[in-house]
Amino acid sequence: MLVQLPSTVSVPSLWRQVLRQNFVDISKLADFLELDETQRKCLLARPRFTLNLPLRLANKIGKGTLDDPILKQFLPTVSENQDSLGFVNDPVGDNSCRKANKLIEKYHGRVLLVATSACAMHCRYCFRQHFDYEVIDKTFDNELKLIQADDSINEVILSGGDPLSLDDRILENLLRRLSAIPHIRKVRFHTRFPIGIPERLDKAFCEMLKSIPLQFWFVIHANHPRELDEDVLKALKGLQYLGIPVLNQSVLLQGVNDCADTLTELSEVLIDHGITPYYLHQLDRVQGAAHFEVSESKGEALVEEMAARLPGYAVPRYVKEVPGMKSKTVI
Ligand SMILES: *Cc1c(COP(=O)(O)O)cnc(C)c1O
Ligand code: SF4
Repeated sequence: MLVQLPSTVSVPSLWRQVLRQNFVDISKLADFLELDETQRKCLLARPRFTLNLPLRLANKIGKGTLDDPILKQFLPTVSENQDSLGFVNDPVGDNSCRKANKLIEKYHGRVLLVATSACAMHCRYCFRQHFDYEVIDKTFDNELKLIQADDSINEVILSGGDPLSLDDRILENLLRRLSAIPHIRKVRFHTRFPIGIPERLDKAFCEMLKSIPLQFWFVIHANHPRELDEDVLKALKGLQYLGIPVLNQSVLLQGVNDCADTLTELSEVLIDHGITPYYLHQLDRVQGAAHFEVSESKGEALVEEMAARLPGYAVPRYVKEVPGMKSKTVI
């Protein structure tokens, strides 16, 4: 017999169900990865910035090793406890540019909305891992009022956290309110969600975007070619078919992608699927991430090597964020 659900009970969307399979318990992950006792001694049992790793990414990690370019991005290890001079809580000066609780304005014509604190995954080098999200205020009223009042702003960047952590209902409401502001012409999503949970870009989400009269741009965040599998690329194609440009930004990370072959292969996979390599970021010097830093001189040599192997549009701009500057700074 079929049981009829009352109409108030909604079935969680598939991507929410997939999200629930994330690894958040370090010993469960250690078991899954078949780590030995010596390897387990390197792990942080209760890190301040918690473990959060989608199953899809965990499945791509080699067993019995800590030396894996995907694992290194997500595994809390004792290296994070080393205090390093110059590695601070707010390396990019976000706090001094907060115009409202969730609104950051640094550059001309565009503002960044910290739409949520939630992410599909926790990247150990995240520059916003110490950000004070003040989750109490759930509305965007103040932020929208400020955007409405300043007609020099023509683009709103949805960031976070990861804006795709929000339900379609909340996103749609926000996007409709933005589309009603005459000077807002485009909305850009900064998201890593599809790399871990491509199911997020489902038909309902794409249909919702299609129904809103704004130009959308997507900037995804992949650091290693293995993050981009067939399902991820197929999900992104769904956006591209809607006429939405998809770009990628990466962070240069020691032991992850500080190698010309890896960076070249990443760019090749991206451009083979119509995704433009946009930025390669120098690591923001956030507390706990010092072990990821690659020197600028090595970074420059890597980008030079990429330029020798790839078409011009496949070479990302190598940039760093210097607080107080009017744009990202090209290295
Ligand atoms: C990085 C950043 C942007 C985006 O810069 P683009 O060069 O346009 O990609 C916008 N606002 C803030 C606050 C940023 O940190
Ligand atoms: S997905 Fe982005 S915002 Fe979230 S932890 Fe990773 S880098 Fe930070």
